[in-house]
Amino acid sequence: MDEFRRQVLDPNLDIGSGIYSAIDPNLQPRLNQRGEYEHEGLDSTYRGPVELLHQVSAFGGGLGREDEVAAELFPDAPSAGQNTVLGRHRGLYAGYVNEGDYRTNGSSGGLATWVLVELLETKAIDGVIHLKASAGTGPLFEYRISRTPDETRQGAKSRYYPGQLANVLAEAAELGGRYAVTAIPSFAYELRLLQQLRPEYAERIPYIIGLICGHQKTANYALQLAWRAGIHPEDLEEIDFRKKIPGRPSNKYATELRGNVNGQVVTAEATELFGMDWGLGMFKANFSDFTEDAFNETADIVLGDAWLPQYTADSRGTNVVITRSAELHDLVTSASQRGRLKLEIISPKLMMQSQTGLMRQNFQEVSARYNYLAKRGEYVPAIRRPSRKRVSMLRRRIQIERLRTSRVSHDAWLLAVRADDLAAFDRRMEAPIERYRRAQRTERRLRKPREALGRLWRKLQSRSALIAASIRGARS
Ligand SMILES: Cc1cc2nc3c(=O)[nH]c(=O)nc-3n(C[C@H](O)[C@H](O)[C@H](O)COP(=O)(O)OP(=O)(O)OC[C@H]3O[C@@H](n4cnc5c(N)ncnc54)[C@H](O)[C@@H]3O)c2cc1C
Repeated sequence: MDEFRRQVLDPNLDIGSGIYSAIDPNLQPRLNQRGEYEHEGLDSTYRGPVELLHQVSAFGGGLGREDEVAAELFPDAPSAGQNTVLGRHRGLYAGYVNEGDYRTNGSSGGLATWVLVELLETKAIDGVIHLKASAGTGPLFEYRISRTPDETRQGAKSRYYPGQLANVLAEAAELGGRYAVTAIPSFAYELRLLQQLRPEYAERIPYIIGLICGHQKTANYALQLAWRAGIHPEDLEEIDFRKKIPGRPSNKYATELRGNVNGQVVTAEATELFGMDWGLGMFKANFSDFTEDAFNETADIVLGDAWLPQYTADSRGTNVVITRSAELHDLVTSASQRGRLKLEIISPKLMMQSQTGLMRQNFQEVSARYNYLAKRGEYVPAIRRPSRKRVSMLRRRIQIERLRTSRVSHDAWLLAVRADDLAAFDRRMEAPIERYRRAQRTERRLRKPREALGRLWRKLQSRSALIAASIRGARS
């Protein structure tokens, strides 16, 4: 228990995926006040198979880190050996679905739903395990099983909301069959670890459809957006986090909320709520600050948003696509040849540029957060793939202030709920947000002169190297 407690439980790095329940059905995830799933009963009195839980934990690492697991899954991927942040892959693309309503109804280019439906229609799977609007009361969204193309299409769209796999894994085990699962990086990784430990899950889940994930939000994120839009948290019924607005860039999407206001069902559309600023890191699940898997390295195929000006200009949305398994690579490339998908090859550099914020957060600037936390005596995992780039003092400041803003937001929310007053949240957040914004402004102001100085310095260095070489040449 000691190592598990030190590495996972005490630092709050149980990602709440529900995978533990596949090891010990007595452990069931419950949504806590912070709006995160936690496993009830997993404390110092727990007497179950701790060693096994440790092995399937994304922060246990006992069965291999993400790149090691990917090496076993995709041994012959052409990029093998490069070990870059993009992970093992066969192809990198930007594009969208060129048939049906997939693109219109999806969050980006609709490829995630298209792949899932294709797998169902070709009978490669019997069902899709993905995050959909809940069937009952309680959480707004939950992992559910879709068994038809229509049910699958109804589950399109990104949910900035937590889910857990315990119930659906149990249901799938009981009913049998083969399934594809949609998953953010840590969830995909824990599923892979479970598959290593219990091979029956590898047969049951032959495909993992990965999403790129800036960070996981707690359930309170949706409630906060609702309250800000005039719907009391208790009265929120539906939320579409990603409503496309024709004529506006795809990254300027709206959030649509539906709920009860004074006995009337109202729909509110928000585009510029301050709570929607992801850079502030509010309502971020703690584990997201420790996830280095920026591009979902263990998934068979990975879909994200093409956040690049040449693509965001089209309000209809465009995916970035990373293919890792040969089978799903062939599926999308042959569909592209037949015009069913519109895909263009993009370079590794462009793929990384499509996710600059994520690259900084999960790769280039991880050390800034870890050093800060370690100095405060907090546990931090070993960095798997350290970046060679030095983090400037100003960027370090931003990372630290974002971490603080994120951490304060959870308690500030509880305070506001207790007072039944959203303004209490804003008052508590005012100071940390101001410090974050100040750090950001300073960095922006000084970035240009610093970059110019850097260029000058590199020029001077290469000139002096040239002069030294010509002096040496003249002497010999
Ligand atoms: C929390 C979160 C953060 C994200 N951050 C980024 C980012 O920083 N950069 C980026 O490029 N892309 C990010 N994405 C991915 C992006 O929002 C789209 O989901 C992705 O581009 C696929 O779009 P699509 O149109 O192909 O999918 P769609 O056709 O809309 O289908 C999406 C599928 O994913 C399932 N799904 C939705 N939410 C979840 C979830 N939370 N967990 C598991 N399955 C889910 C749906 O049920 C559906 O089957 C994020 C997604 C999530 C959920």
